[in-house]
Amino acid sequence: MRTQRRLRPAGNGQTEVRKSMRTDSSAADLHADDDAIVIVGAGQAGARAAEALRAAGHKGRIALVGEEAHLPYERPQLSKEVLLDRASLPASIKERTGWQGIDVDLDLGTHVASCNLDRRAVELADGRRIAFNRLVLATGVAARELPQLDGADIPVRTLRTIEDALSLRELFRPGARIVLIGGGVIGLEVASAAIKSGCAVTVVEAAEGLLSRALPRVVADYLQKRHEDAGVQFRFGVSGRATADGHLILSDGSRIPADCIVVGIGAEPRVVLGRQLGLDCDGGIRVDAWGRSDAPGVYAIGDVAAQWSEHQQRWARVETWANAQNQSIAVARGMVGQGAGYGEAPWFWTDQYDINIQVAGELSGTDLVLRGDVRSGRFAALGLQDGTLCGAVTVNNRKDMAVLRKLATRPVNRADLENPSFDLRKALV
Ligand SMILES: Cc1cc2nc3c(=O)[nH]c(=O)nc-3n(C[C@H](O)[C@H](O)[C@H](O)COP(=O)(O)OP(=O)(O)OC[C@H]3O[C@@H](n4cnc5c(N)ncnc54)[C@H](O)[C@@H]3O)c2cc1C
Repeated sequence: MRTQRRLRPAGNGQTEVRKSMRTDSSAADLHADDDAIVIVGAGQAGARAAEALRAAGHKGRIALVGEEAHLPYERPQLSKEVLLDRASLPASIKERTGWQGIDVDLDLGTHVASCNLDRRAVELADGRRIAFNRLVLATGVAARELPQLDGADIPVRTLRTIEDALSLRELFRPGARIVLIGGGVIGLEVASAAIKSGCAVTVVEAAEGLLSRALPRVVADYLQKRHEDAGVQFRFGVSGRATADGHLILSDGSRIPADCIVVGIGAEPRVVLGRQLGLDCDGGIRVDAWGRSDAPGVYAIGDVAAQWSEHQQRWARVETWANAQNQSIAVARGMVGQGAGYGEAPWFWTDQYDINIQVAGELSGTDLVLRGDVRSGRFAALGLQDGTLCGAVTVNNRKDMAVLRKLATRPVNRADLENPSFDLRKALV
């Protein structure tokens, strides 16, 4: 069994990784280039890491291997523009010529079946092998499904890929009865898109309220009311049990007629390859601030990676656009001996109807301060701890969020924050 390395930030890890690199000749048999990096997963994290490796001066081969047939793209557009606009086509991160221009070998529509550390090669489902000197796992997550709905007589969908979004868009016709199981952020974006398409929407949520872990009560209540005003019906404290005769049957025995069921109950990290390599995969592939796993020369980034959170005092995966973007860039720089690792506070946004909500940092266990009037539809909830700003949620207030992110972990004056006419930029100086 491999000796477990303690995965905590400790300094730039480049020297350590290179020293511990195997000089396995089988990789050289397959490929002459001994500084080859293979990235598995051509989603946002994999793509941004490939770009950043080149930008930071990596000279060796970079292979970006992904099982989706599309050029790498960002997923937030799937539950927003793509669902809302029938004419909209998902945008790619780069065109094929752009990838050629930075000399990244794209291998798309290709599933990586296994990774072999002794041969230092990934084995593809079509039988090919690609050798690597270092390996980056960017395999993301898979949407959770509900096995009790297998064989349903109603279309049951999840939303993760371009295909999922295009097929949902087809089902969103005026009058269609859409039932969402799960009132999470993506589910609520889907609800708002379905309403805009003229559908009748019901959201079934097992908890007694919306987004209790992600948002303070005041923001969650505001959001729920906006959905109700738009026509969404909520069923709290129940779950989907089965389907029969075109209905979803709930755990309390009641039935909801449905033309389509969308399951939005979160996602599971895709750790099959990590497990195969014997990595610590408890709740995601565990990595340090440089994305290093406990196997020399093997890294993980994006949704699949779990990093130690000082604030939460636990290993945490962060499923956000910003994490996929910035962690990947930081890890890529670290791989070529640059940068200071990754330790940004979480930040995400959601767009529903005309509402933009942004969440930064940590709000749990903090003293909440309200800034602005909820009825105006433009306000913020700020989390303080011992006079320091730990987290913030803004509703339709991008300007404040831009400053609040800079104020994070700084001492702040509560009275200033509570005063919506106080210019937050003054707190920065
Ligand atoms: C519908 C939707 C809306 C979102 N909206 C927002 C938002 O508004 N704001 C926000 O902050 N975040 C949002 N997110 C989250 C954000 O998009 C993710 O955090 C981000 O996509 C993670 O990127 P990733 O590269 O780590 O994973 P992914 O994007 O999941 O990419 C992983 C890739 O690896 C591939 N793969 C896995 N295993 C293999 C294998 N064995 N061989 C080959 N390929 C493999 C997968 O097919 C996939 O293409 C949204 C996500 C979704 C699904």
